[in-house]
Amino acid sequence: MRVKTRLILNALLGILLAILIGVVLQLSDTRISQANQTLTTATQLASTISNMRLVAFDYLLNHTDRALEQWQDTYAEVAASTTNAQYLPADEQAAVQDIHSQNAGTKPLLDMLVTDYHSPAGDPSLAALQTARDKQLTDQLLLKQQIMVTDSLQLGNIGQQHIRQAMLVSTRIIIGIVAVLLAATLVNMWFIAFSISRGLARLQRGAAVLAGGKLGYRMGVLTADEFGQLATSFNSMAAKLETTEQAKSEFVLLASHQLRMPLTAISWIVEELLHNPPSDQTEKQRQYIRQIYASDQRMIKLVDDLLNVVRIGFGSLAPEAKKVALADVLSDVIREVEPQIHHKHLELTKKIGKNLHPITSDPSWIRTIVQNLLSNAIKYSREHQAIAISLTQKGAGLTLSVKDAGIGIPADEQDKIFSKMFRGSNAKDFDSEGTGVGLYITRSMVTLIGGTVWFTSEEGKGSTFYVELPKDAAPPKQWHERPL
Ligand code: ADP
Repeated sequence: MRVKTRLILNALLGILLAILIGVVLQLSDTRISQANQTLTTATQLASTISNMRLVAFDYLLNHTDRALEQWQDTYAEVAASTTNAQYLPADEQAAVQDIHSQNAGTKPLLDMLVTDYHSPAGDPSLAALQTARDKQLTDQLLLKQQIMVTDSLQLGNIGQQHIRQAMLVSTRIIIGIVAVLLAATLVNMWFIAFSISRGLARLQRGAAVLAGGKLGYRMGVLTADEFGQLATSFNSMAAKLETTEQAKSEFVLLASHQLRMPLTAISWIVEELLHNPPSDQTEKQRQYIRQIYASDQRMIKLVDDLLNVVRIGFGSLAPEAKKVALADVLSDVIREVEPQIHHKHLELTKKIGKNLHPITSDPSWIRTIVQNLLSNAIKYSREHQAIAISLTQKGAGLTLSVKDAGIGIPADEQDKIFSKMFRGSNAKDFDSEGTGVGLYITRSMVTLIGGTVWFTSEEGKGSTFYVELPKDAAPPKQWHERPL
């Protein structure tokens, strides 16, 4: 369900809650006012019946017409207010009907007493009998009135009980409604929060994968809600990025190829001039030619680096498999970098293990790896510092280490050092010419031939880079999947 729909549902639940509570309050209000009415009636009845008892005593003692009249009035009042009991709840009805029938029962008793008082018996024995009967009638009458008082008090209690019940029931119903709707709202909110956090987490993961350079990554469109739409938009953005990136890489690849040819041609010609100089060549000209050669070599390296980075991006970097004598490659590379070593007055030591086994790998890759590590050690060393190279047999494979005492790598940057285009903050100040792709290419190549590369470093004290190469390079299958 869409987040928007869920939010509307929440609002509807809120409205429903308000309506239901309103209805319950209205119903309980009706019930309470009915009970209140009972309470009022009970109070009035109690007071009328108490009055009736007083008037009765007055009449029974004094036999006055005024007391009789008042008694009859109270009788009529009680009779009137207890007639329509059938509309009341059962328990109230019973009490009211009892009052009604007790009240009605007083009428014949009163009539008999009135008759006796108005015609007293002349004969003493009859008079005694009459007095005894009147006493009995009076007791019955007072008993009935007593029952009526008790009934009216009972009615009052019932009224109070009904009020309490109505309040209790309405409170319980309201609590029930609030609990149910609150639970529904919470469940709904949980779904909203869950879908938002899951959607954002997936988006964040996807963005991280794209940022990591895997432009072929696409998010699964799992739902039809806003996050499904977001995933679709994300995917079309990633597709556009991939197309643009591919076009850019193809352009760089083409341009690098085109650049490399004339640079190589220049290199040949300059090498020829260096090895077979014309007889009239001056020392100054020789120096210029050497500088041209050095610059040309740097540009060739730069173009090669560019080509390698693009091929790594395309996944099309594939090694050859030939016998490589790593010690020879090492010596070659050292010879190449001797001018820089002399220029910085560095002290280079080399420790090569005995009887090293040749390995099967790509010679040009091995050369690039050694070149990158050694040129970094030279580049990031200060004048007169020492560089130590060691090559040892490790099982069937070989371990190469290049140790310098140079600027080192800041601890908080060490995890990014193999990333594409990353340069350490101290390296940028120390040497402005780096490109930040040498170690990226090195690690890609080492990994592709089944080896490992790592380092230890302390800022200001130096670094040691290690490469472990297997006896036989074991290229993973995907190397040849997308050749260029
Ligand atoms: P570049 O040297 O062209 O900047 P690299 O990819 O070869 O690029 O190296 C990446 C970063 O790693 C360098 O910029 C530097 O910060 C750090 N680095 C590599 N080798 C060394 C080293 N021997 N000493 C100190 N820092 C190094």
